[in-house]
Amino acid sequence: MSSTRSLLLKLPTRSLLRFRCLRGMGLNPSGYGVLMFPSQAWLLTRPKVRFNSSSAALKHQSEIRDHGKASPIGFNSVRSMSTLESSAYKSSNDEERLEPLRGEIKVRGNVVQVGDKRVPNVWLRDNCQCASCVHTDTKQRLLDTFTIPRDISIQSSKVQAKGLDIEWNDGHKSSYKNDFLLRACSYPEQRSIVRQGSAKLIKWDASIASDPPRLQYQEPGSNPDFDKELMRRLRQYGFCYIDSTPFTDPNTTKTLLESIAFIRPTHYGGFYDFTADLASADTAYTNIALEAHTDNTYFSDPAGLQAFHLLSHTDGSGGASLLVDGFKVAQDLHAQDPAAYATLAQVNVNCHASGNDGISIQPYRGFPVLQHDPTTRHLLQVRWNSSDRASIDLPLPRVDEWYDAARKWDALLKKSENEYWEQLTPGRVLVFDNWRVMHGRSAFTGKRRICGAYINRDDWISKYKMLHHGRETVLDHLATG
Ligand SMILES: [Zn+2]
Repeated sequence: MSSTRSLLLKLPTRSLLRFRCLRGMGLNPSGYGVLMFPSQAWLLTRPKVRFNSSSAALKHQSEIRDHGKASPIGFNSVRSMSTLESSAYKSSNDEERLEPLRGEIKVRGNVVQVGDKRVPNVWLRDNCQCASCVHTDTKQRLLDTFTIPRDISIQSSKVQAKGLDIEWNDGHKSSYKNDFLLRACSYPEQRSIVRQGSAKLIKWDASIASDPPRLQYQEPGSNPDFDKELMRRLRQYGFCYIDSTPFTDPNTTKTLLESIAFIRPTHYGGFYDFTADLASADTAYTNIALEAHTDNTYFSDPAGLQAFHLLSHTDGSGGASLLVDGFKVAQDLHAQDPAAYATLAQVNVNCHASGNDGISIQPYRGFPVLQHDPTTRHLLQVRWNSSDRASIDLPLPRVDEWYDAARKWDALLKKSENEYWEQLTPGRVLVFDNWRVMHGRSAFTGKRRICGAYINRDDWISKYKMLHHGRETVLDHLATG
């Protein structure tokens, strides 16, 4: 029996049938799905196993990997299939706290060891933190990495109470703090906390209506605690109201939003102030109902924050705002149907914005509805807008798999217990995380004047990190996070 054959026999029947079916259609089954193993090796060696529900899947993958070495063709084919079946995704990041770093640091011959991990000399030398290797203010690398001899070695070393001193055979001297070395060797979820500005997520449903996250307006820049609390609420809940905001002049809202980060211009403009009149060719500018969706699925990098402020509503009624916690619904789907979740996590979808003359904006590639960190497997982003959906990156005979999964997702989104409705009023600014919280609205009559803006994801997360971890901690994590 060939190793490929024995490998296939280890797969669940459903995978095997699908594999045969694809081959029968003459399709290359490794043409889609994600490459999982190169970045996943740590999963099998990390100190704590937290994949309770998926440890079987991981074991299964390790078996495949071991067999795959002997049979590269079988490995590649089955790898895609196994990830499509996989439930190794995590619907959220529950690791939000930095744990104390522990481990023994020692030098054995020419090698630094942290616990049982070997630290390559080239990495150590490249990440020397001295003022001639790293600019003290900008933290940019000054060292020309590729002047480091490939066989750079330790001339002498000294393990001190606070860190490790090394003299290299190129004559350079380096000092490394213990935390620096320990963090570099800690597991990816810990390392990602500061870099990604992770926080303990508070997932919610319709019941949040009784006590939604909110702050009272303060003059921008007048109180650093306001900024910090706003960032915390946005990170933990995915939205926050800012009440009692002056609404006679939309510029007050603009200045408030600019105090978070600069406003992102798009083909619709920058800061907007409009009355429903179809000035821009998009359904958002009409008075029809809008289902819960995220904005900007047609961009490679959708806006991170979005803000609305209803400045006035005259001669009519309706237009309640709908918010749905996409991460909470993702968690529900993950629990209910891991295979459907995996499909939405892996099948790329293309989107477009073509309503304005002279443009058809499309991302440089398709992205899945549920976008995960490839290393930690944490859910990072929800991209969901059926109006703007274009093609689905699956061979046409298989697109029904995506529709089946999306139908389950859509049904959960529309469960009344997940829909939080709120009638916005002048003075209440709504700011929300467009990578997590979906928004919509009911139909309305009359004239509504609304202002608002987009803010980039990277900019607001940078602000969160500066306020919650501090610049020094964030910069300390650059090489090791
Ligand atoms: Zn140096």
